[in-house]
Amino acid sequence: MRNSVAPLFTVCVFAISALIGSRGTDEKTSGITVVKSPPFAGGNRHYVSNRAPLLGSPLVKLPIGSVEPKGWLVGQLRLMRGGFTGRLVEISRFLKDDSGWITLKGEGWEEMPYWLKGYGDLGYVLKDQEIISKTKRWLELALKSQQSDGYFGPVDNRENHDLWPNMVMLFALRSYHEATGDTRVLPFMTRYFRYENGLPDGELLPESWQKLRGGDNLEVVYWLYNRTGDSFLLDLGRRLHERTSDWTSPILSDQRDKNWEESSFYHGVNITMGIREPGTYYQQAKDQTLIDAVEANYKQVMEAYGQQPGGMFGADENIRPGYGDPRQGAETCSMVEFMSSFESLLKITGDARYADRCEEIAFNSLPASMTPDLKGLHYLTAPNLISCDSTGGHDFQNGGTLLSYDPWSYRCCQHNVAFGWPYFAEHLWMATSDDGLAAALFAPSTVTARVGDGAEVRVSEDTAYPFGDVIDFTMGTAKPVEFPFYLRIPSWWDGGSVSLNGEALKADPRPGEYLVIRRKWRDGDRLRLEFRPRINVRAWPTVGNSVSVRRGPLWYSLKIGEKWRRYGGTDEWPALELLPTTAWNYGLAVDPLDPAATIRIESRKEPLDQPFEPEAAPIVLRARARKIPSWTAEGRMVGKVPPGPVATDAEVEEITLIPMGCARLRISSFPLVKKWRR
Ligand SMILES: [Zn+2]
Repeated sequence: MRNSVAPLFTVCVFAISALIGSRGTDEKTSGITVVKSPPFAGGNRHYVSNRAPLLGSPLVKLPIGSVEPKGWLVGQLRLMRGGFTGRLVEISRFLKDDSGWITLKGEGWEEMPYWLKGYGDLGYVLKDQEIISKTKRWLELALKSQQSDGYFGPVDNRENHDLWPNMVMLFALRSYHEATGDTRVLPFMTRYFRYENGLPDGELLPESWQKLRGGDNLEVVYWLYNRTGDSFLLDLGRRLHERTSDWTSPILSDQRDKNWEESSFYHGVNITMGIREPGTYYQQAKDQTLIDAVEANYKQVMEAYGQQPGGMFGADENIRPGYGDPRQGAETCSMVEFMSSFESLLKITGDARYADRCEEIAFNSLPASMTPDLKGLHYLTAPNLISCDSTGGHDFQNGGTLLSYDPWSYRCCQHNVAFGWPYFAEHLWMATSDDGLAAALFAPSTVTARVGDGAEVRVSEDTAYPFGDVIDFTMGTAKPVEFPFYLRIPSWWDGGSVSLNGEALKADPRPGEYLVIRRKWRDGDRLRLEFRPRINVRAWPTVGNSVSVRRGPLWYSLKIGEKWRRYGGTDEWPALELLPTTAWNYGLAVDPLDPAATIRIESRKEPLDQPFEPEAAPIVLRARARKIPSWTAEGRMVGKVPPGPVATDAEVEEITLIPMGCARLRISSFPLVKKWRR
């Protein structure tokens, strides 16, 4: 490994003083820059950042409660509260009084902590006292379970030398401390990490999931170090990195291809979690090759199995060599874990590309993993998916029901999906190392944060994004305050404008970077970011030359008629199949030289609280297509995308495309047809 390389960030200064009008001398210090990241040096004065010798934090997470989601996003969280996440105690056998997390004997593995990690954060984000107090009951039991040597949790896990379930519980405790400041949490974690550090190498992450997922443990070790400065935590950090499976080497290899079924490195959820581990350790090692390894592995996996829209890669349990078609699907756990990895990498590196990757999954893949009322979920979601039946008549690694929506089933996902939306909401806004504020992920929200010399500002973000093309930020502050405002420019940026108080800024935003507006902000200042996304058609040459339609942050799917059919469960918590009522075997008839020219926006409307369903789709496209009679189902599974361009004599029709996140039955990777003219 080569020596540490200080991360660089590019600064381009544009016409500084002429940009922002003339409100007097305050604006003399104003300026607009474009940077790849907030600086690593410095350190935010108002929020806990990385403590030396850890690498500085370009972006710093704000304490839970600082970001208040609004609009469709708070709609999702409220639906979660009334859905299976909020009421999982009623239906999950892992949350009953015989749970090992209550009795401290018997079974008490990952399920309860998985759920609590998201359920608690849901309560803190919504400021819902009932959820907060129900969360506390479980946390108190965990706190009380600590033994004299620092171990906590069910005895079974200890006897099995399995630290994995506790890693998840540590996240729940981290959030609890951020939300409440309970003074017991830091000493509790310190005692537990001393216990971990006292384990001989052979008992520290010896095998199995914990070994693949040691990066999660490491993340909380650094979180605690930043709060206590206990130097043994850095020793533990180094040991955890060394004892965790090697995620710096290429994930895919010929050897693993041969033993794909046995390789834990090919399990989709392990990949989505493990891929960030070198990035986490990078904070301590400051070795650029670690971040390079994260990128190389992302590229390797996505080029081989992620040639599809929605931000995920095909791993219908494990990655299976030869199974790269967009019908393979991704496990719900892998979606929320991938989002979380990108949220972490975004904080660590400041690199805005991670925000794009997180949004792509959140807006296009995650919503389809659950029913619109968030009262049921399924295991696998694929970009091409024509039947969410319960038959098991599909070519997946696992047999049985994986696609029907069922709140009673899918053990890990049923619990783990809980943290997807709450964590997303918490990371919309972040503090920066130079005492500024970054709009990092976009969604309707309000943030309250301390900036500049310590003044508190309240910024309202009003938008229909990702369905709308305009984001308005309105400043609320008791007195004028100078600080840098970082505005993320998405990688898909096709042009647009930025204006301040109605005047266009002469800025030159670059995709995947930040526009930084440093000025003395006043109450009522309004910053407007306006996108001009074009309709794009992305080709996937290695998947039968198939194509997908994208506009801005959203991918589009064929709208397929839906028939919901109950096959099990209870009246209150039904298990449902979702079956198609209309044809799905269309190829797009688009001009190969100008594919987007034959696709148009048909209608737009404001997003409802639950925009992710076909009839509520806030934006609808129309495209020309022809049926491909030879493209048929294989059992209940959609056939592989036929290599195009495909010959078909079927008439040209206009088909309806809706955002992929609104479509649970979907064709999102289309074959191209040969004759695209009428
Ligand atoms: Zn799962």
